[in-house]
Amino acid sequence: MSVLVINCGSTSLKVAIVDANSGARLEELRVERLGTPQAAVHFADHSTSPAPATLDEVFTQLLPDWLDGLAADITCVGHRVVHGGPTFTSPTRINDQVFEQLQETVHLAPLHNPAGLAGIAGARQLLPNVPHVAVFDTAFHATIPPRASTYALPHELAKQHGLRRYGFHGTSHQFVAHRTAAFLQDDIRNLRIITCHLGGGCSVCAVEYGRSVETSMGMTPLEGLVMATRCGDVDPAALLHLMRSEDLTADALESLLNGESGLLGLTGGTSDFRDVERRAEEGDERCRLAIQVFCHRIRKYIGAYAAVMGGVDAIVFTAGIGQHSATVRHHVCQRLEFLGARLEEVANRELSLSASQSIAEFSARHSRVKLLAARTDEAWEIARLAEQVGASDTPTPTPRPIPVAISARHVHLTQATVEALFGDGHQLTPLKTLSQPGQFAAEEVVTLVGPKRSLPGVRVLGPTRNANQVEISRTDEFFLGIDAPIRASGDTANTPGITLLGTAGREVTLTGGVLCAWRHIHMTPEDATAFGVTDKDVVEVEVGDEGVRSLVFGDVLVRVSPHYQLEMHIDTDEGNAAELQRQDIGKLDVEEARRPGGTAIQLTKTPRHDGPNAS
Ligand code: ADP
Repeated sequence: MSVLVINCGSTSLKVAIVDANSGARLEELRVERLGTPQAAVHFADHSTSPAPATLDEVFTQLLPDWLDGLAADITCVGHRVVHGGPTFTSPTRINDQVFEQLQETVHLAPLHNPAGLAGIAGARQLLPNVPHVAVFDTAFHATIPPRASTYALPHELAKQHGLRRYGFHGTSHQFVAHRTAAFLQDDIRNLRIITCHLGGGCSVCAVEYGRSVETSMGMTPLEGLVMATRCGDVDPAALLHLMRSEDLTADALESLLNGESGLLGLTGGTSDFRDVERRAEEGDERCRLAIQVFCHRIRKYIGAYAAVMGGVDAIVFTAGIGQHSATVRHHVCQRLEFLGARLEEVANRELSLSASQSIAEFSARHSRVKLLAARTDEAWEIARLAEQVGASDTPTPTPRPIPVAISARHVHLTQATVEALFGDGHQLTPLKTLSQPGQFAAEEVVTLVGPKRSLPGVRVLGPTRNANQVEISRTDEFFLGIDAPIRASGDTANTPGITLLGTAGREVTLTGGVLCAWRHIHMTPEDATAFGVTDKDVVEVEVGDEGVRSLVFGDVLVRVSPHYQLEMHIDTDEGNAAELQRQDIGKLDVEEARRPGGTAIQLTKTPRHDGPNAS
């Protein structure tokens, strides 16, 4: 599968023909300093100048010649698009309508998206008969929860102007996280990984069980780390002060923050990290300070992201600086023992990635947290994602209703906890069978005692299990005063505890097990084939109302087992949002949960992600 990958910037253009399976480059070229007298075209083995003067000339003269004889093998074109805005949260096949929608993202990334769109327009004319797929830097971060993506600005204003955090470098963070899982021979769904992309632009990402849950860049690629010429985090009031005292316009401030700050600003003229390191070694104080500021900021984010995920299993460094600078890795990873990460100095110093080795470890043998450096390959990731979407030709499974059930707050208990709460030898008494085979709502109820308040009458579901689990909604969390993560049932690692009251003053304090259930669909393998999904995919589900009104639930986890029957489970908050009726007992019968008027629930999209956790 040969994919033409196009990465079109405002003054540069990178084009490669990539084998989507192996990542091998069949051909590649780079145009630099486009639109200037110094413009040059670099091929794999030589460079030429002068180069085309405009992007238009690139697509009408340079590329047609270059592709002569190669075009027949190209099955798909993958375009890097920096900002997908709120609409594009997964790689998307481009048609005229999508192209129009893409133009609406330009105001969110005026420095980046116009060039990407010009590249798409040129390439669609050049290769009109193959699928074109847009792959977004922001898409991997679509799973970041609102608590991390929301700026504390006035709600209406933020909504009106789309002021929220999106995150960037998504293809790189995603690629490197998957590489890490493969290197550790573990499933990415078991790992909490912090990926540090340190190149010209820099960002850190918290990848929890394969999903991005936090990243350092925000609404634009300016927030977060110190970069080559971008400042990263600065007190906004300092900028207001600067605007007033220097009489700066918004445009002038924008170019100051994006183009004259970061390493360049700190060192007084050097943005290339190799030069900063060399000058620091020669005794330049400003360069020394620049390296310290650069590394300190990364350390700070790593500590924060370990806290966000409740721990970390691997910290990975990538891109030019991350792969090559032992100094940066050394400064960042010193004294991280409290997290379980122990640096091996010699391994770090001698680390060198080769063509055959794209990832290497530099942590000590007994370090619980793995410290790694990895080579990123965004073009390969774009090729892989584009090929998947392009080849699938958006299979649309025959939409058919999926019954919905509201899962009210409930607990699953071990036999030992049942006895501790209800008396020795006590067995749960079935009250009502539930729709999933073998499951029942028991007569027994418990009181949940949180730090703030208590919730009585919470149903116990049977049969007993080998671990305790308390499933509550977000509203319950606020009421009880507990901050529980959204998790798939059974995934209780690092979840908070709670006290349960049973009968006759009996109580049990659990040290973990409280979670906010991740909305999910149970289905059989046959259903999964019909919908074109597999176990642990994440999909979007539309709650339709015959065109009257519809609501889309994003991020719905698919769970496949021959023992399941087709049904989507949402919690009471979500049921309210969908205007479904709620009751207070376990998992409700489908009939009881249906919206008056015969709601049909349909899975309308094929997987947004490879796994629950990737995109
Ligand atoms: P981009 O984000 O532009 O694709 P790269 O990922 O190529 O950038 O990273 C560029 C940065 O990596 C530059 O600051 C460069 O100095 C730095 N870099 C490259 N090689 C080394 C090295 N051996 N030691 C330190 N820094 C390096």
